[in-house]
Amino acid sequence: MDILVINCGSSSVKYQLFNMADESLLAKGIVERIGEEVSIVKHAARGKERRYEARIPNHEQAFTHIRKALLDPADGVIASPDDIDAIGHRVVHGGEAFVQSTLIDANVIAVLEEYSALAPLHNPPNLVGIRCADKAFPGKPHVAVFDTAFHQTMPKHAFVYALPYDLYEKGRIRRYGFHGTSHRFVTMRAAEFLAIPLDRFNAITCHLGNGCSMAAVANGHSVDTTMGLTPLEGLVMGTRSGDIDPAIIFHLARTKGWDLNAIDALLNKKSGLLGLSGLSNDCRELLEAAPRNERARLALDVFCYRIRKYIGAYIAVLGRVDAIVFTGGIGENGVPIRRQILEGLEVLGIELNLAANEVRGREAVITKPTSRIRALVVPTNEELLIARDTLAIAARRG
Ligand code: ADP
Repeated sequence: MDILVINCGSSSVKYQLFNMADESLLAKGIVERIGEEVSIVKHAARGKERRYEARIPNHEQAFTHIRKALLDPADGVIASPDDIDAIGHRVVHGGEAFVQSTLIDANVIAVLEEYSALAPLHNPPNLVGIRCADKAFPGKPHVAVFDTAFHQTMPKHAFVYALPYDLYEKGRIRRYGFHGTSHRFVTMRAAEFLAIPLDRFNAITCHLGNGCSMAAVANGHSVDTTMGLTPLEGLVMGTRSGDIDPAIIFHLARTKGWDLNAIDALLNKKSGLLGLSGLSNDCRELLEAAPRNERARLALDVFCYRIRKYIGAYIAVLGRVDAIVFTGGIGENGVPIRRQILEGLEVLGIELNLAANEVRGREAVITKPTSRIRALVVPTNEELLIARDTLAIAARRG
């Protein structure tokens, strides 16, 4: 069973092809800068990486390049499109309609189109990806795996905002949460790693990449998460502010004359690590600069402080916590970041092991054996989980 996984954005398509007999990765790649003067195709397979530039005006053409790369007579990984059994798609917003991964049919497409209003930057390109993949590889079952689905187990008191209730009932304005596939993957891996049954596993999962979010997981299910109606809420991110006083928006509009688009760009693209440091949204660059650059230091301080605050909050939410799990580029590799977040929390039962914390990019426990709550690094693999869900659903369909 070969499963193709597609993550389609507004100007890029990422893909991975898995052989699900042993879950090995046969090929992966990305088509970037679709619609620009020069687009870039990167394709890795059989231990070789290829990169070339081409004019790729639209997503349909991007899929033609992907198909060609996978089927290339010289170094392709499949002999015929028939070798692909099903296609899994990362879909950002499944709203309240989808609590788990779903076989895509006309009804599902219609609901996803409805949710485009809630995720205008993400769902439309996800839908384009589904249509183009169907055209490039006709007749395959397609499965949608949602960023929001894992968080659909949140109780109401965690997901409604204290706004007039109509806005939830009629307007669907509520906390949805994102990065669900990653939170679910690392929850399962961490439970397995610690040999705790998933349905008795309580964890705080920290996905720290360009986008950052945390989840409180009780008995294997998400019961709270930091992102909200959109991915803007919660933690400090590369360029997003995370939590702010919403009145800052009115203040900017009323007293400074900012319009909504400018404020939107400010909060989503110019804030976070980038806005605070004035230097970069890249955690590595800030760590390098921090010893001699006060603003880089400040950006990292605010970043770590917010995570630490949510750890305290989620311990209160969960009562008993088996593990705190770090994943994403920063969570997996940011040794000093994890240290700054966890040091001095002995009062909460967290005893960091400085030597063990030196780990990068592989599964490891980073707390002392005496630590009541264990902290772990678990590399995420959202694509593999999408492939597993796709396989399971396609197999059920027969
Ligand atoms: P995305 O959310 O786009 O998938 P990643 O999960 O790859 O992003 O995370 C990107 C972030 O990880 C960047 O801020 C980068 O600086 C950070 N990162 C990568 N390697 C390290 C490292 N060794 N130390 C600290 N941060 C790192």
